[in-house]
Order: sequence, then C-alpha cells, then structure tokens
Amino acid sequence: MSRPTVDDGTVPPGGGQAGSAPLLGGAPEPTIFELSHPGRSAWSFRTTGIPETPLADLIPADQLRPEPPALAEVSERDLVAHVTRLTHRQFSVDLGAYPLGSCTMKYNPKVCDTVASLPGLTAVHPSAPASLTQGWLALLVELEEALCAVTGMAAATLQPAAGAAGELTGLLLMRAWHRSRGEDRHKVIIPDSAHGTNPASVTLGGYEVVTVPSDPRGCVDMRALRTVLDGDVAGIMLTNPNTLGLFEEDIAEIASAVHEVGGLLYYDGANLNAILGIVRPGDMGFDVVHLNLHKTFATPHGGGGPGAGPVAVSERLAPFLPGPRPVRLDGDGLEPSYGWAVPDQSIGRMHSWHGNALVLARALAYILLHGRDGLRQVAEVAVLNANWIRHRLSGTYDVPFDRPCMHEVVLSVRDLRREHGVRAMDVAKAMLDTGFHAPTVSFPLIVEEALMIEPTETESPQTLASLATALEAIAAQARRDPDALHAAPRTTPVGRVDEARAARRLIATFDAR
Ligand SMILES: *Cc1c(COP(=O)(O)O)cnc(C)c1O
Repeated sequence: MSRPTVDDGTVPPGGGQAGSAPLLGGAPEPTIFELSHPGRSAWSFRTTGIPETPLADLIPADQLRPEPPALAEVSERDLVAHVTRLTHRQFSVDLGAYPLGSCTMKYNPKVCDTVASLPGLTAVHPSAPASLTQGWLALLVELEEALCAVTGMAAATLQPAAGAAGELTGLLLMRAWHRSRGEDRHKVIIPDSAHGTNPASVTLGGYEVVTVPSDPRGCVDMRALRTVLDGDVAGIMLTNPNTLGLFEEDIAEIASAVHEVGGLLYYDGANLNAILGIVRPGDMGFDVVHLNLHKTFATPHGGGGPGAGPVAVSERLAPFLPGPRPVRLDGDGLEPSYGWAVPDQSIGRMHSWHGNALVLARALAYILLHGRDGLRQVAEVAVLNANWIRHRLSGTYDVPFDRPCMHEVVLSVRDLRREHGVRAMDVAKAMLDTGFHAPTVSFPLIVEEALMIEPTETESPQTLASLATALEAIAAQARRDPDALHAAPRTTPVGRVDEARAARRLIATFDAR
C-alpha cells in the first residue's frame, strides 16, 4: 500500500473528510489508512508453540477471498494515539450534561461497572450447570424480584436485549394470552405522541396499529379512544408519563375502558426516571411493562454496546414468559437454592443464554446502591430538575403544555422560526458549541419545532443553570444574528452536516487510494 505515512515527515492531507478537521488547530489529523505502513502491527501472542492451522484447512477454498482485505497496518503506538484522539472528539455522559429527552442519558455510577467487572461474574461460562452458578442465579432472581417490586408486577423475564425487543416480547405475550382464551385479536392502539419503536413493534408482532390523537392537555383523547375500542383490540401501548413528559391523568379510566373490551394494557417503561418509588404501572392497571435498564438503571447507551429490556407481567401473563427462567427452589438447604424452569405455556426464547447478563448485574448493583428511598429520590430530583428548566426557560421559549411536567419538558422554537427563520435544529447545533449535548429535536412529532429536554437527576443546580443560560444565549443570538446559528456548530470536529445529501447520496466507504 503506497500511502503517505507520518514518519517520513509529511503529514498527509485529510482527504476532504469532514471528520479530519484538526481538533487543536494545525494540520488535519491523518486517518488510520494514512497512518498505515506495510509490515507494521501491534504486539501479539505468538509463542504458544501450538502450530497455526492454515486458513485453507478451516474454510473451503471457494469461500476464501483471493487477497487479504486492505486493512491499515499500524504500530500499536500509532493505533493507541489514533483511537485516543477519536475518543477525545466524542461527547459522552461522563463528560457533561446530555439532556436528550426520551432517552435518559444520565451519568451512571462507576461502582456499577466495578460490580459488572468482578471476575466471579465475568469468568463464568453461560452453559455452566446451575449447581456451579448459584451466585449468578441468585443475582438474576433478585433482579427480577426488584423489578417486579418497582413495577407492581408478578413475574419478569430478563432476556430481551433492548427496549424494542422488550416491546416485541410483550406483544407476543399479549397474543399468547388472547390465543389461550381462544381469541385472535388484530389491533393495538397507540397514542400519536408515542415513541417510534411502539408502532414498529406492533407491526413486527403482526398487529395492526390504530392511532389515537392527543387532546389539548397533551393526554390521550378519551373520546377518540372510546370510538376505537372494540372486541378486535388486543391492547393499548402507553408511556406514562407520556412522550410529552406529562402524566396521563385519565389512566385509571383508560385502564378500565380497555379491560372492559377484553384488551390488555402495555406500559412502555423505557424511561422510569419519573415514577421510580412513587407510582407503579401495576397500580395504574397495566398488564405488561418493559424497562430499559440502559436508560434508568446504570448502563450507558446510545453509543452502541449492549442494553437490556426486561419485561414484567401481571399474574395472568406469567405462564407465557420466555424460558428458561431463573427460579428459587425450595430445598432443604443442602441442595442448590436456585435453578432453571420453563413456564408452562412459554412463548419461547427471546435471547440466547441469560440475556445481556452484565447489564443485569449493573442494574441490580444500582438498585441495591439506592435502596427504596434512594430510587424514590432519583425520581423526585429528575422531576424537580425538569420543572426547574421549564420554569426558567418559559420566558425564553414557547412551552406548548405549560403545566407541571415529569422527568422531561418539551419546548417549541416555533416563534423563533416564524420571526427569525431559526429552527429547533439550529438551536440544537448551537448547543454543541456550548459544551452541552443537544436536546432531542423535532420529537414528539405532534409539537412543531420541538426541543425535548431531559436534564435527569444526576445534574447539579449549577449545571442546570449553565444549561439554561446557554439556551437563553442561543435564543438571544437567534434574534440578533440568525445566520450565525445556521452555521453552527463551529467548534466540533464535524461541522453542520448536509442531512439531505447524507441520506440521498450516502457514501459509507473510505476510499483508501
Ligand atoms: C428508548 C425508548 C424505546 C426503545 O428502546 P431501545 O432500547 O432503544 O430499543 C422505547 N420507548 C421509549 C419511550 C424510549 O424512550
């Protein structure tokens, strides 16, 4: 490969890639391919004495590529520098406030990572017999019980790998329950403010989506709901507080109306930050709940890596849960105390082995760390912080539903757009120049030019004040010099991306030549 390398003194140009803009001024940073030099590699273990099996003995010749892939050849030193430079271009929950509404991007205590790194947990093979993995089984059973206590449900599965996987699991459980009663229902109701995964999961689960509108309060329109309720409705999927950050005031009435036609209530508990220790979906009348452990319970998310979307259910749905499930055995104290059991009418597996086990370990650590009172405090502070932001910014931005919110608040940039041509996206991009991550934009879909802010409980009053000050300064600039905002961000490694071109003429490869 004849690419320029840094050691002959010529720092190569960045190849016109937006990502290669210099971080600290000076020459653009080289890409990994530009650092490549034939024959370089990192240290590796090659002294085992076991002869290496030639590839051709392992893979049929016609499946082998004719020549090796054009991977970069770099020294370990250059590779580490390259990757470290890249990590410094990232924004993360460890770096600062990340108020991305509907996503609960919050700082997660490092002690949970410490727990998830314990060799007693990491060094266990998933197929080891129950008699040798009693500790793991105890952890899984305790977590299921804790999640049932938090949600007011009777039983849970820890298998689903993410929120959307939990949704699909929940819908399959709903179908299994209806079928066990000899019924084949076809429709699932979803409010128009719902998270996009809800209609996607309903469709994937083989159901038809029926949308109900929100009323002027931002809640489910009860009258519209009653018109679509009939014997073909398998259930309704709701988030409460809903995706506008508002509590569904009529939840008890909704629950009885849906149950009256034989439907079930599904609670999208991806974001439990607002209700932890205060109110339980089970008490609101829900039958199925999924939780995103990677939002509320101490696993960072959004940058890849595993998540977990456990599903908790009421007594009548428990026989259908995915199996095998970790269970407590009533032994005489000499036999193992935990084992595996497959529920009678199980819908089958939703994940190999035990789900994303180390995410589960983090979640139990987080729950035990906080205890009952601590979890309640998480919710109280999350709600207080969101309301503080709402109150402070209500003079600067439009607040479409200006009443006490839960863990997040939705603002609108529609006035700035009308008067100065500044959109929610411009405000979000300008935020990146202030050292904060942007809030969610253009969601929920029913609010024009939405900015959805979820400060979370982990941010201090000082951080909240700086966040609000940054948003106020951006609004002031929108009035003074709107064009400057169209050009934001200016200080990030990648500037404003042409989203239309990125979608229509996507170039997903790097041409190394
Ligand atoms: C994040 C989220 C989901 C989806 O969770 P994933 O783990 O991303 O699949 C579903 N519903 C709501 C309300 C969410 O915020």
